[in-house]
Amino acid sequence: MNLILLGAPGAGKGTQVDFLTKERGLPAISTGNILRAAIKEGTPTGLEAQKYISSGRLVPDEVIIGIVRERLSQKDCENGFILDGVPRTIPQAEALEKAGVEIDAAILLDLPDELIEQRMAGRRTCIDCGASYHVITRPPKAENICDECGGELTRRKDDDPETVRMRLKVYHEETEPLVDFYKQRGRLFVVDGSRSPEETNAQVQEVLEKL
Ligand code: AMP
Repeated sequence: MNLILLGAPGAGKGTQVDFLTKERGLPAISTGNILRAAIKEGTPTGLEAQKYISSGRLVPDEVIIGIVRERLSQKDCENGFILDGVPRTIPQAEALEKAGVEIDAAILLDLPDELIEQRMAGRRTCIDCGASYHVITRPPKAENICDECGGELTRRKDDDPETVRMRLKVYHEETEPLVDFYKQRGRLFVVDGSRSPEETNAQVQEVLEKL
């Protein structure tokens, strides 16, 4: 099963991906996490990506397409995968098609921008494994410690309110056209992303059962 989670930054894609990897055993491919790891390691890709990420803009398509192509060729993706935060532009989606990647469902987590801005203010992310938490709605068991790997939880620099507004603008301009792209292909499924993580997950499960 090849899935895409679509939705604005802060819509809860990462949280749903965490549920899905546990429930379905599929590997998650988060370009945001891959880029943050590259920045941490100081690789050439990381150095190039940093300037885009810190200002809330998109990393160029060629860089992303290269990363995804490389990741999808790995053995663990043979029986399916979940794409989180990619594709984010029409050229990225077209590159997947050109590479022969079939998508069973593009699941859109739908919610208003105001709610996203509130959520982003409380988001905390593990610097080691990328798992995401929220100080009120999804707190870790121990303060500032990741439940999954024991890594430290921090606030991402690009989660500050000004950068979040920029990221939402970029989302509406560059990523939202993908909703029509997958609708035209009969692959779009919309779930209400304003609910609790568990309620949203129940809706995602309903979609997957229909496939
Ligand atoms: P995310 O963790 O998915 O919110 O991604 C964080 C940042 O990484 C984004 O704001 C972009 O700057 C960059 N990024 C991640 N995935 C992509 C992508 N598919 N295309 C372009 N830029 C991306």
